Amino acid sequence: MAEEKRTRSPRKKPDRIPRQEMPVRSAQDRIQDFEEVALGFDAVLAQKEAQRCLQCPKQPCVDGCPVSVDITGFIHLITEGDFIGAARKIKETNLLPAVCGRVCPQEEQCEQVCVVGKIDEPVAIGRLERFVADYERNQGTVVLPEVAPPSGKKVAIIGSGPAGITVSYELLQAGHKVTIFEALHELGGVLIYGIPEFRLPKKIVAAEIDTIKKLGAEIKLNMLIGKTRTIDQLMNDDGFDAVFIGTGSGLPMFLKLPGENLNGISSANEFLTRVNLMKAYREEYATPVKVGKKVAVFGAGNVAMDAARSAKRVGGDDTEVSIVYRRARDQMPAREEEIHHAEEEGIIFNLLTNPIRFIGDENNHVKEIECVKMELGEPDDSGRRRPITIKGSEHLVEADTVIVALGTMPRKFIAETSPDIKTSDWGTFLVDEESGETSKKGVFAGGDIVTGSATVIQAMGAGRVAAKAIKEYLAEN
Ligand SMILES: Cc1cc2nc3c(=O)[nH]c(=O)nc-3n(C[C@H](O)[C@H](O)[C@H](O)COP(=O)(O)OP(=O)(O)OC[C@H]3O[C@@H](n4cnc5c(N)ncnc54)[C@H](O)[C@@H]3O)c2cc1C
Repeated sequence: MAEEKRTRSPRKKPDRIPRQEMPVRSAQDRIQDFEEVALGFDAVLAQKEAQRCLQCPKQPCVDGCPVSVDITGFIHLITEGDFIGAARKIKETNLLPAVCGRVCPQEEQCEQVCVVGKIDEPVAIGRLERFVADYERNQGTVVLPEVAPPSGKKVAIIGSGPAGITVSYELLQAGHKVTIFEALHELGGVLIYGIPEFRLPKKIVAAEIDTIKKLGAEIKLNMLIGKTRTIDQLMNDDGFDAVFIGTGSGLPMFLKLPGENLNGISSANEFLTRVNLMKAYREEYATPVKVGKKVAVFGAGNVAMDAARSAKRVGGDDTEVSIVYRRARDQMPAREEEIHHAEEEGIIFNLLTNPIRFIGDENNHVKEIECVKMELGEPDDSGRRRPITIKGSEHLVEADTVIVALGTMPRKFIAETSPDIKTSDWGTFLVDEESGETSKKGVFAGGDIVTGSATVIQAMGAGRVAAKAIKEYLAEN
């Protein structure tokens, strides 16, 4: 009997389905062009991944999403094979699922609190979101939401990034007339001019934003509010009942080092805008961007990774691209996936290194950077270990192209012409957190202009908060 007990096999737990990997193009293949790196799930992978969701009644993932997408609801529809229904479920609160499925840092939001993640890898919510959004678009079955009868109220939306687009979407559905004022010649904000094509194809952004046009938004491109027209003029002369400011945080910061104005040195913002918006990587376009054979990118956030990977593609196989960063790998603020992709693509990481001056050639073109080596000391205010210069470690780094990706601040055009809108020392707009209302009556703001550089989904979340408050404001005024 005892023998029999010993030989009986233990009760086997049902096999857990592992998190499904998303196919990606090989590094060697993808650095030859700007086509998308990740290929997305197919229906089989999506349904397998969807089965991993526990359908938790408490839905912590929904709380982890700044726009409260019904995550368990859409994943359940995937398990039933209703991919279109799943896409529409997401669109109840998020107009841009194909965008968010590609660029949201899900590992810090919905996936971070996924219950499956406590015992295994979390459900791949972002990949599933991307799959259903692509499926709906490719099937040509995108439908417009219902729109309330015209309210007779007019709202000006300044800036067409994710914040402005979200507010527009919500207000149009409520029957309000919306006019979007955009400084550039295309809608989309950073989705169009910042994030590279190989992470976020522009035709996908345009397709999702197209809904706004179909819902009747009036679009005014090449209009720099604060210069072409002021907020007061919009409200007093042009008859807008309310204004939403979603102008982002697009003013690049520099290192402020000797030689920084040499030729060959630019901000990541300028470099990426030229590559993305002006298609400078395509030979047939008249505004080419030049990349030499030794590129140094300063910074270690997502923007730095985007700039480095774009430079590699523009420069070609014999261009060496380095990320130069004063801290160590663990302190790099970029998403792990972006760092990993950059490493795979041959980007060199020159860590614990800080520049002290740029040196030019006889044509005032950068040729070298004098740098020092750093070591990590005690944590600073940000909680990260403070980099300390190692004495006597000065050395020269060869570079004929330098891209500075140190962060951005809000531009001042609106603040300077609307002094009654209160701003912080950083130039961000101060708003009531519950409503997004600024210190000026009827003027609301949200997204990077309020938080400083953050994320797409946070900007969209702020847009939803402001849209709700604007609807209430319009009902009372
Ligand atoms: C290179 C790069 C990569 C990024 N990668 C990611 C990522 O992977 N995931 C993620 O979640 N976030 C990412 N971000 C951050 C994210 O894109 C932003 O947080 C988000 O776009 C902010 O949205 P927004 O609507 O506030 O502003 P923006 O997207 O900046 O849009 C503001 C718009 O307002 C317009 N504008 C500015 N001033 C005026 C004016 N005076 N009059 C009229 N129009 C004006 C601008 O031209 C722009 O179109 C990235 C940012 C950059 C720069």
